[in-house]
Amino acid sequence: MGSPATLPVEDAACLFCPTAPWAEIGRGRDYEYDTVPDLFTLRRCTGCGLVFVAPRPGPAAMRVIYPSNYYAYREEEIERPLLKFFRDRIEGSKVRRYRRLVADDTAAVVDVGCGDGRLLDILRRLGPSGWRLAGIEVAEAAARRAAERGFEVRTGDLETLDLARWNGRFGLALVHQVIEHTRDPRDAVRRIACLLRPGGVLSVETPDTRGWDARIFRRGYWGGYHIPRHFYLFDASTLSRLLVEQGFEVVSVRSILSPAFWVYSVHNALADSPRLRRLARWFHAQSPLPMAVAAVIDVVQIATCRQSTNLQLLARKR
Ligand SMILES: [Zn+2]
Repeated sequence: MGSPATLPVEDAACLFCPTAPWAEIGRGRDYEYDTVPDLFTLRRCTGCGLVFVAPRPGPAAMRVIYPSNYYAYREEEIERPLLKFFRDRIEGSKVRRYRRLVADDTAAVVDVGCGDGRLLDILRRLGPSGWRLAGIEVAEAAARRAAERGFEVRTGDLETLDLARWNGRFGLALVHQVIEHTRDPRDAVRRIACLLRPGGVLSVETPDTRGWDARIFRRGYWGGYHIPRHFYLFDASTLSRLLVEQGFEVVSVRSILSPAFWVYSVHNALADSPRLRRLARWFHAQSPLPMAVAAVIDVVQIATCRQSTNLQLLARKR
């Protein structure tokens, strides 16, 4: 893959208890994209349970670990019709919930990490016609596609982009599968809070370390680790703590389906096996059968334990 001999790395600590001891819970490499051969270590803070990667790729490594074929940059292009059908049903029920909470059918809405605009397109089709839809996206080609589809898009890294002219503008911010990628989630939440007007609603979706697949595959293969791109892995408690600390009132936290994490957990275990490596290519987020089986397991898990490895937290800016 043309990997550099040594990837620039930096150290990291727990967001909440930087001096608390940590336990090494697992290690693994980039089983999904094979961008670098390096092994990365997962640590769990013994004080609060937050899981983090340390050492982790440094800023200069970003272009290496996010290849141009990264799925989030071209979701619309690769999504199969059957999976799109189910995605629309699931996201549609969420849109109804946002609408009840926001209670303003002319609100400005921002999708932070909008990729090629797939979620914005769902909001346009299923949300109120008066919503003004905008996005922030770091990948230039994806941002261009989202802009071509008619959305107002700012291109750049959430953690460094100058967003001053958007401050206080939004009634709803969606931050889905993004916060775990940031180098400083506290600063990212602070920046997003600035974008919202008082009373504005925030939806955060992120992997949850408490579900079945996170436990079964916790030594390194769990799909939610997405090694080495997920720097922090939360649960309901640590994510709520971060939001409350930044001036939000938590409205609800619930477990949501995450079949892709099961499928990639199996993929990663196979990809690491010299004998079974060939089978790994059958396990990815666009494989209907593995995704369907995983979704059924998640439905059972949520019904019996009220838990999965993906959580949605809704909060309101005070
Ligand atoms: Zn901690």
